Order: sequence, then C-alpha cells, then structure tokens
Amino acid sequence: MSTEFDIAIIGGGNAGLTLAAQLAAQDNPPTTVVIEPQTVEQRDCSWSLWAEDHQSEQLTHSTKGRWHRWQLIDDTSRVIHNSKQYSYLSLSSADYLLGRGAQLRDPVSLIEDSVTALHRQQQQTIIETEKGRYSAKTVYDSRPPKIAEDGLRQHFLGWHIHSKEPIKDPHVATLMDFRVDQSQGLHFIYALPFSDHHLLIESTLISASLQPQDWYRNAIEDWLRVNNIEVEEIISEEMGVIPMDTLITDASSSTTSSEQPLIANIGAASGAVRRSSGYAFQHIQQQISQLASGIAEGNMAVPTPISSRLTAMDRIFNGVLLNRPDLAVSLYMRMAKALTGDQFARFMLGQASLSDWLRVIAAMPKMPFLKQTAELIAKQVAEKLSRA
Ligand SMILES: Cc1cc2nc3c(=O)[nH]c(=O)nc-3n(C[C@H](O)[C@H](O)[C@H](O)COP(=O)(O)OP(=O)(O)OC[C@H]3O[C@@H](n4cnc5c(N)ncnc54)[C@H](O)[C@@H]3O)c2cc1C
Repeated sequence: MSTEFDIAIIGGGNAGLTLAAQLAAQDNPPTTVVIEPQTVEQRDCSWSLWAEDHQSEQLTHSTKGRWHRWQLIDDTSRVIHNSKQYSYLSLSSADYLLGRGAQLRDPVSLIEDSVTALHRQQQQTIIETEKGRYSAKTVYDSRPPKIAEDGLRQHFLGWHIHSKEPIKDPHVATLMDFRVDQSQGLHFIYALPFSDHHLLIESTLISASLQPQDWYRNAIEDWLRVNNIEVEEIISEEMGVIPMDTLITDASSSTTSSEQPLIANIGAASGAVRRSSGYAFQHIQQQISQLASGIAEGNMAVPTPISSRLTAMDRIFNGVLLNRPDLAVSLYMRMAKALTGDQFARFMLGQASLSDWLRVIAAMPKMPFLKQTAELIAKQVAEKLSRA
C-alpha cells in the first residue's frame, strides 16, 4: 500500500468516516487514508439527534429507537412535546460507522493505527503513527478535543436494562428528568425506552468536575426505584464526557498560511458540539457535507460547524448556568414550556427562526441574561484591546 496520500483523515469517528464515505462516492476521489486505532465495536455508544423524515429514513440501518414525543420533568411540572415534522432518533454509533466504512472504495481506505505526531514539511505533512509513517498534502484531524480543567462538561454514565415488568409510556423519550440530586451541578436523568422492556437510563451532570462512577450508578438506581422499575438484567453500561466550553487547540492542528500544507480540525475537535446542549451529530453532518463538496471543487478549507452568533448565545446561556445554578433547572423548563415540539426541535438543531428565538428570550429571566451579556461584551472588548 502507498504511504503517500492527497488527504489523511485522523480518526474514523462520525466526522472522519462520514467524510471518507462522501469522498469515496465522488467521480474522481482524492487518494485518502483514514487512520483509526479502535474497532467500531470498541467505541460503540448511543448517538441521538432530531431529524426530519427524509433523514430518518437514511439512518434506518443504524436506528435503535425513534420517538415523536419527548418530555422534560421537574419537581412541579412536566412538559410533553409532540412533533409531526421531527423525530428524536437514537443511533448505534457502531452500526452507523460500519455503514460508512462499507461505502469506502479505492482510492479511499481505512487503516488500524494510532497517530503519534505530525510534522509539516514543504508541500506535505508527515504523519507518524505507532506502526509506520505516512505523508499527505492535506490532513483533517478529528481526534477528540481537550478543554481546560475547570471547563464546563456534560458527563454521564448510562445503563441499558431489561425490566421485569413492561414500562409505562414506551412511546415517550425522557430528555431531562430533574427530580434528582442537584448538589453537584445541573443533574438530570435521560431515559430512552427502546421497547416496553428495554430502556437506556443515563445519569447526566453538567459541571466542571466528574464524580466517581458509583455516584451516577446510585442516581440511576434511585430513579428506577422511584419509578417502580425493577431490573431483570443490566445489558451494558456506557459513559462519556462531552465538552461544553472553549476547546484547547493543539498548535500543530490548525489552519496556517496557504504556503504550508493544511492541517485542520474537523468534527467535535473543530467546535461542532453545541455548548448549551452537547449535541453535535447534525452539525458534524452539515460540516462534512459542505467540506466534501468543497474538496470536489478544489477548496480544502473546513467550514465553521456552528455560527459565531449561535456560539455567543450558547456562551451567555452557559454563563448563566454557571453563575446562577439556582436557576439552571428552570431555564430548561421555561424554554421547553415556551416552545412547541417542532419549535423545540428546531431550537436544538440550531435552526430556530426569529420567532422561536423571541419566544425563548421572552421566557427567560431578564436580569441574569443581561448581566451575562454585558460580561461577555466586556471580555471580548478587553481581549481585542490586549491584542491591539
Ligand atoms: C459517549 C458519547 C456520547 C455522545 N452522544 C451524543 C449524542 O447523543 N448526540 C450528539 O449529537 N452528540 C453526542 N456526542 C458528542 C460526540 O462527540 C459526537 O456526536 C461525535 O462522536 C463526534 O464525532 P467526531 O468525529 O468529531 O469524534 P469521534 O466520533 O469521537 O471520533 C474521533 C476519533 O478519533 C480517534 N482517535 C483518537 N486518538 C487517535 C489517534 N491518536 N490516532 C488516530 N485516531 C485517534 C478515536 O478513536 C475516535 O474514533 C457524544 C459523545 C460521546 C463521547
């Protein structure tokens, strides 16, 4: 096998394998290698998203569950959304990635290896790996991003269970049930019924610091007890950490002048995760489709996955979450109450209309948001002045 490529993609996750599959489908694909150390089974987890019918149909082969109804619950109320236009999907990441892997064809290939270092030379980048050495004119790097130690994260541990008795409401996905311990940060239970006996339950915490694994397990057990769900079998456990803060970009993984070979981040590493929700799937899909179309026309630049306006709004939202933890639960509940199912799905997808935004703004407590906006503007002005 050649070790020289037009494009090297580091990481065969959502962004990397989706890009490789789209390049392989082009008329004259660039020579491309995807370098990924793990099998899809080793990385299997649930990816959820809102999708319209045409996209849901494209994702059928990897869909584990699909709901047109979802709910958010706090101590005093329950908001149930119905949507005709959108469904909430839960995918098996392994099935999704196997599907993309099966679409690869010569000259686009996948190798099992781990990248250890990148060195720019005149016209190309040398990619050092555990097993060898490759070179490419362009490198797209999707290795998971780092965030500051005190940065906000969404961290969770979940169980797939079989219940002894049929569960209530298997047609409703529970996105946030806040009736749990709120002492360590914004905490909620996320519960997806895949059938009337099969449930995924995750204890999710939004805070800067992780808890010991038993903390999340105890929260799941408490929630099951309160909801009278007896466990027949714990089928599997999954856990994850999703950054909701500014990413630390590796100096070697950034776009530089046109004189040098391009090394650019894609996917979550390029900031595709919504800071206010942790959802990334759809932003990655859009970014990668635009990138693949650009590459076909000779434009190798990576599109920004989330607009700067949306990122600024999310920063303000997260600032209020951090500075006013007493308001955190009510912010999500107020937002859910202000919107219909379709409007909520659009909002979560980053496709809210002006009137959706006005509804959300009208529902929020004004003073904390004005204070946070003023702080953000002052910080940006100070950053600009220090650079001048
Ligand atoms: C457990 C979990 C659950 C999530 N659930 C959701 C969800 O429900 N909905 C949603 O929208 N988002 C979710 N996310 C956010 C998630 O980050 C994205 O949806 C998506 O996986 C990001 O795609 P990506 O390609 O950017 O990164 P990844 O899919 O993480 O791919 C990066 C790849 O880089 C590989 N890699 C690491 N080191 C090296 C190396 N040295 N050399 C080569 N390759 C390397 C990794 O093995 C990995 O496969 C979840 C994240 C996690 C961690």
